Amino acid sequence: MQTRLKVLFVLIIITLTLPLSVNAQTESNKFIVVLDAGHGGKDPGKPSKYGYTEKEIALKVVLAVGKELEKNKDIEVVYTRKTDVLIDLFQRGKIANKANADLFVSIHCNAHTSQAYGSETYVLGVHRNKTNFDVAKAENEVIFLEEDYEHNYNGFDPNSPESFIGLTLMQEQYLDQSIQLASLIQQNFTSKLKRKNRGVKQAGFIVLHQTVMPSVLVETGFITNTSEGKYLNSKKGQGELSVAIAKAIESYKKSVDQNFVATEYITEEETIIPSEEKIIPNTIFKVQIAAASKKLEPKSYNFKGLKELSRDKEGKLYKYFYGYTSDINKIQQMQKVAKQKGFKSAFIVAYRDGERISLEKALNSGTK
Ligand SMILES: [Zn+2]
Repeated sequence: MQTRLKVLFVLIIITLTLPLSVNAQTESNKFIVVLDAGHGGKDPGKPSKYGYTEKEIALKVVLAVGKELEKNKDIEVVYTRKTDVLIDLFQRGKIANKANADLFVSIHCNAHTSQAYGSETYVLGVHRNKTNFDVAKAENEVIFLEEDYEHNYNGFDPNSPESFIGLTLMQEQYLDQSIQLASLIQQNFTSKLKRKNRGVKQAGFIVLHQTVMPSVLVETGFITNTSEGKYLNSKKGQGELSVAIAKAIESYKKSVDQNFVATEYITEEETIIPSEEKIIPNTIFKVQIAAASKKLEPKSYNFKGLKELSRDKEGKLYKYFYGYTSDINKIQQMQKVAKQKGFKSAFIVAYRDGERISLEKALNSGTK
């Protein structure tokens, strides 16, 4: 009897520890950043008349960004390429997904027949204008060099503006975070380096479509512009750009972490002044107050005393919400409260039949 119990006990221990040890290997506590140097190998990217190429500049910037980030012991850097080789676009996303990364940052250079100059950072989305489409098209065309692109991209055609719309936008759930990082990068380029700010933009980059984490694509500058091209190809330029990008990534990480600093418990009641009720049928509103890869209990002490908290897991991110109501007036009040408590970027999200819908759609259909 005793031996049988022992055997049973050992079996239980094995069952309990096996999955745990597997988790321990794959779940890193570090903040994982995947750095992706655009192009490589037989794909030079954009050439300039001075003889330097996008693939070389992108790689040098990426290696320098990585070196900068690796100084931070809380950050782990994964590279899609560290040498002059061509990696298929879908493989780049796979590398990031496999690494369970927190961020994906793809580095490129722009080109134009004019003397256009300046930096811009993209997040994935439907291109709203031809200029953005043209930038994405140029970056997507590399799939024609790949072996089995029809199969790997489900018939995606980089030359067709409509083709992209047919793809499921997995990135949509990371859009807020991607925009946040893109804005930080552009801010650093503009305020610290005095680069011309061409803004945060949206277009259908296939390399961003493959990832399941906040992802951006940085067009550091125009390789075709006489002076900017020289700057991009210089050690000074690459050094400055890479520090600006690395600092933006660290600021992003910090802002994500800060949402989770357990503050002292605030006992004062939330002051939601009841206003006139305005119910939108079949619709649930919540205030998103934070999103991060860190899992925390949705309890008041973790969220500056806020109550009515909930948590959702979307991909690798945990999203934290405040409030749950069909009353749009009430949720707007709650958004104000969240902002007052320090969740400066708190915003309202809407759901219908369990599906996330845009706030605009929720409000329009509700009033009809
Ligand atoms: Zn490129």
